[in-house]
Amino acid sequence: MTINKPSRVDKILFENEIFYIKRDDLLSEDFSGNKARKFDYFLHNPLPENIKKILSYGSNQSNAMYSLSVLAKKLNLEFIYVCHHEPNFLKQNPIGNYKNALQNNMKLIVHEDVEQQCHELQDENTLFIKEGGAVKEAEFGIKKLAFELKQWAGEKNYDIFLPSGTGTTALYLQKHLDFKVFTCPCVGDEKYLKKQFLQLEEENHPIILNPPKKYHFGKVKIELFEMYQKLLHESKIEFDLLYDPVGWISLLSNKKAFKNPIIYIHQGGILGNASQIKRYKFKFFKHQS
Ligand SMILES: *Cc1c(COP(=O)(O)O)cnc(C)c1O
Repeated sequence: MTINKPSRVDKILFENEIFYIKRDDLLSEDFSGNKARKFDYFLHNPLPENIKKILSYGSNQSNAMYSLSVLAKKLNLEFIYVCHHEPNFLKQNPIGNYKNALQNNMKLIVHEDVEQQCHELQDENTLFIKEGGAVKEAEFGIKKLAFELKQWAGEKNYDIFLPSGTGTTALYLQKHLDFKVFTCPCVGDEKYLKKQFLQLEEENHPIILNPPKKYHFGKVKIELFEMYQKLLHESKIEFDLLYDPVGWISLLSNKKAFKNPIIYIHQGGILGNASQIKRYKFKFFKHQS
């Protein structure tokens, strides 16, 4: 389950245009898409002996949370995850990343002050991972992604697009690739994303393209679901519901920015779709059976 073979690239026709899809969603059966790249470092580099647990924080349906639960299990470490709230309906009907992470023995701590709680729980036996896996160690696996793209492209030029959460993947990809890397903010806005880039590297940042309107991360919007369905219908590839619809909307509405054929990085996250689809059904399709 470490990455020892490049993910494939599919050619698709979408809205009558050709796109190349880097299938990182197929990288690993255990990890959720790009988290396999981000946490690859920890599978190749032994941790200091004193490390007994992984501590992280974020939302209760995060792909990073689930992937860290897998990592902790593989490395025989305890996994503690702090989140701001745990809705009752989720507790009673576990689903998606939440359900799978708990099955991997994640210890979930709910606390109003997440930062303070993390601070208190940290000691010399703890490996602390920032929300969404925004850590320097992520560079190790993302460098491999850059290498695979170079190998695949050969002499040709491409533009790369991928939607961002913390921006870690887009940033390290641009660092190790001569092609232009384009991204869009899905969590927070352009300013937040720039700040995230700056925390990791001073320069050589990806180009930020904005969606035509602001989307609140994770919020159900009918046009996002329609984009998901259209992609599924035309390309026969299932994309994720949190990042990819915003990604494709941003890409399609900024087409003029691209000068070369586009490689879209499919970063996985399909495991999280179950809970999102449930929310869409509840909000928009409740009168259908
Ligand atoms: C984590 C994740 C992202 C965001 O990656 P960043 O490196 O935080 O920008 C995008 N898509 C999927 C499916 C993810 O799981």
